[in-house]
Parts: sequence; structure tokens; C-alpha cells
Amino acid sequence: MTPEEIPTWLLEDDPIRLEMLWRAADLTRHLYVGDEVHLRGLIEVSNVCQRSCAYCGIAACAPKVERYRMTQEDILECADKALEYGFGTVVMQAGEDPGITGEWMADTIKKIKDRTGLAITLSLGERNEEDLQAWQAAGADRYLLRFETTDEDLYRRIHPNLPGGASNRIQQLLRMRDIGFEIGTGVMVGIPGQTWQTLANDIYTFQNYDMDMIGIGPYIPSPGTPLEGPLGEMLMVEAGTQQVPSDPLTTLKALALTRLVCPETNIPSTTALATLDPSSGRANGLSRGANVIMPNLTQPKYRVLYQIYPGKAGLHETADITTAKIRAQIESLGRRVGQGPGTSPRISHRSEA
Ligand code: SAH
Repeated sequence: MTPEEIPTWLLEDDPIRLEMLWRAADLTRHLYVGDEVHLRGLIEVSNVCQRSCAYCGIAACAPKVERYRMTQEDILECADKALEYGFGTVVMQAGEDPGITGEWMADTIKKIKDRTGLAITLSLGERNEEDLQAWQAAGADRYLLRFETTDEDLYRRIHPNLPGGASNRIQQLLRMRDIGFEIGTGVMVGIPGQTWQTLANDIYTFQNYDMDMIGIGPYIPSPGTPLEGPLGEMLMVEAGTQQVPSDPLTTLKALALTRLVCPETNIPSTTALATLDPSSGRANGLSRGANVIMPNLTQPKYRVLYQIYPGKAGLHETADITTAKIRAQIESLGRRVGQGPGTSPRISHRSEA
């Protein structure tokens, strides 16, 4: 697929051609990463955040958010569950929280590794070199940092810099890879100001940087955030007829195209997709290119406070229920739950090169 073909496919609405796209993505997934669906247990470690991302419901500027930071005991309880459920990986995600110190997180990573041996993914926002190196040395395997958009002007408007530092997430990802992390990134589909060409460039960029994991979910408006106010309106007016909608179909097209251009990458069927389409979002993602699911292991008392967008799928469920539902869905599609860490075949190919 050439970069020029991506926007045409994103705009495709002929059912027969779309069926071709779904089949090509599913076959590519089957051939390159197989039929296993890897489960990564999500632990939402803290909703404290120093950034003011215009889309996010737990941003520093978001009103009326009750803030929490898990204790190490809470985190270890979730990691134990991941082991008990047979997952291969835990993902620790949080707002960009300076209260998560380098030292405390390194100690948490070591403890998880010692007692579970699971692969560990971090999604803790933009951190300094020293912390990243300490966390990798402590046993963290992967880092997720979505670059959110390749349109630099849009990025600056939805992801304001902190005083004293310009944010460049692609550069950060490449540094993380040098440090020794597998790197994951992604974008939201339909963020105000995102045009068809921008989304096509995003997909092309995944391929260009050879990303190991790529998360693509629909943008879900979060009340009280700048994107739900005048900023969002202004960006949509600027994008005009080129504005990408934030619906399940467009998200699935972006996901399928990503599988075609990055055949060996790990791609989750995201919670945001399951939130927009509770009856079939997760299954549609899995049958149109995805090979990973991130069941939420966060204790319910914290889960309800980690609302990056409202109505998140599984908000009031326990980890037992979320996991049982996801297993049943995987089996009903004739797929099986992956064993082991579920590292992308990209990694072994890259080390052979
Ligand atoms: N603080 C970390 C984790 C953020 S949450 C970081 O910045 O990397 C993980 C992802 O959720 C974000 O990167 C963003 O792409 C997505 N997200 C945030 N707000 C969202 C919204 N309103 N709708 C859909 N996805 C959202």
C-alpha cells in the first residue's frame, strides 16, 4: 500500500470494497501474528496529572476530579490477578504524575517482576532519561506513548507543553527504543481538527518508525475539557469537510489499514472502541486486524476515578467479570488466548538484522 492509497481507503464506503479491506486485514493478522489474542492486564496506577491535554478527562485542568495514587500493595494485588488469570503482561498506566517518583516505580517494577515474572509495560507519560533508564534496568519491557497526531500545529494545540520543555513524543519514543524498550504508540480517530490526510499520515508514520505496538481508538468527548468547548469548535471549523468523524467504522478502517502496513505489529482492540460500540466493538476490532486486548484489573474504587473519557467500558465491573467476558468473546471468534509475553515478531526480526 502506498501513502497515497491510505486516504482513499479511509474514505471508502462501498460495502464490497470494505469487506475486501476487512478480509485482507484479518488474513494479514492471521499470517503474521497468528490466531492468539494476547491479554495485557491494565493497572490504572494514578489519575494525578501535570499536563493539560485538551482531550483528556483527568488532565490537570479537568474540573472536579477526585485524585488518587495507588499504593504498592494495591498494584501488586492487580499484578497477582494478572498471573492468576494467565495473562502474559501487566500495563501500568497513569496521568503524568510527578508523585510517581523514579525510585518508587523502579521498586514497584522489581517487585512485580520478582513475584510474577510477567512482561511489564509502562504508560506513564513523558518522563526524563534517568527515570526511563532506571525503569528499564528494573525490569520494564515496553513503553506506550501515543504520539496522538502527526500534525504539529494540531499537536501543540491539544497537547500544551509544560514550562521549559517542548514535547516531541516521536523523539521520546525513539530514545525509549535506544534505552531498550519495545515501543508502542497510537492515535485517537476523529479528534477535532484531524483531517483525512492527517490520519493517513499518522498511519504512514506507524510504518515509517516501525512501531512495535499501535493503539487506535475513537476519540470520545470528555465533558468540561477544552476540546468540548471553543477550542474543539474552532478546530472542527478549520478542518471543515475534511474533519474525520469519531465513529466505530472509521476507527475500524484505520485499524485494518494499520494492520496492512504494519503486519507484525501488536494491535489492541481498544477499550474506547468497546465503549462506543458495547455489543460488538471489541469483536469487530479483533476480526479486522487486532490481536491484543487489555482487560482492566484496576480495583473498582479507583477505576471509577480514572475516566479519561466518560462511560468507559467495564467501569463498574470487577476484574473477574471483565476477564471472563473477554475470554468468552475470544473463544466465540474461534481464536485462543495467547500464552507467554506476546512479544511482537518484529522484535526477533530486528535483532536478527
Ligand atoms: N498519561 C499517559 C496515559 C494517557 S491515557 C500518556 O499521556 O501517555 C492513554 C491514551 O488514552 C492517550 O494517549 C489518548 O490517546 C487516549 N485518550 C485520552 N483521552 C481520550 C478521549 N477523550 N477519548 C479517547 N481516547 C482518549
